[in-house]
Amino acid sequence: MNSIISTIKKEGILVGDGGWGTLLIKAGMQAGECPELWNIQQPEIVSNIAMSYKEAGADLISTNSFGGNRIKLRSYGLEDRAKELNQKSAYLTRKAVGEQHHVLASIGPTGKFIMMGDVSEDELYEAFREQATALEEGGADACIIETMSDLDEAKCAVRAVKENTKLEIIVSFTFMKSTGGEERFNTFMGTTPEVFISEMKKLGVSILGTNCTLTVEDMNALLQRMYSFEKEIPFLIYPNAGQPKLTEEGITYPEKPETFAKYVPDYYNNGAKIIGGCCGTTPEHIRAVRNEIERMKLR
Ligand SMILES: [Zn+2]
Repeated sequence: MNSIISTIKKEGILVGDGGWGTLLIKAGMQAGECPELWNIQQPEIVSNIAMSYKEAGADLISTNSFGGNRIKLRSYGLEDRAKELNQKSAYLTRKAVGEQHHVLASIGPTGKFIMMGDVSEDELYEAFREQATALEEGGADACIIETMSDLDEAKCAVRAVKENTKLEIIVSFTFMKSTGGEERFNTFMGTTPEVFISEMKKLGVSILGTNCTLTVEDMNALLQRMYSFEKEIPFLIYPNAGQPKLTEEGITYPEKPETFAKYVPDYYNNGAKIIGGCCGTTPEHIRAVRNEIERMKLR
């Protein structure tokens, strides 16, 4: 299988997938359940989510393994099943999407911080090594170290993946917009987009991105800033479907598929080469992104 980088060179722009949590909840997952356990207990539902994103036009489809590191799984008493849960997640997505699509292994944060003394660097490294090797064994060809806020943790994850697998690596941070005054973005640990880009380039990561937290408008502003700093690296961008609202039906996201895709040409002009969605986005949002890209190609 070609690398994502070479697919980008060939195609110009790729479509990612959308949210998984939203669809798992719609399929009946209850609050407090471990999403990764559904790879074993509800494999058809997990497969169907992967397939629905493929059918919506995604080129890269994730695995249901965002919280699949053993540090996070410990809160469910499932840490000793980390290998099995991750392998199965990659197996299910690969089986659902076939060999012509990229299976992008999702590797999320552990929720523990070296700086706070919550966890040692060795423990983090080992957790990411275990997760990444299992995802590769299950059939993933690339990974996305995503929704990261902590530079130390992200660096550790990159090393663990690089030194133990052949997975192509994408790193995606989540930034907040500061309220009031001039437009500023940083992670909740204080990292700026510029520092994130510089540090990841030093590690040789060749695709960088941003996902979650922000709306399509704010993501567009953030991406402009990233692109004014860095013009060579292809960017991935996965905005949320607006800001979450608590309604009678639970947490909902207001951004409709039609308006979700309105910034796609701007994203492309600002260096985005992979466009998908994060929280609250569905196959309909991804189909809207795909349609917008096809329209751009015709122009
Ligand atoms: Zn998200």
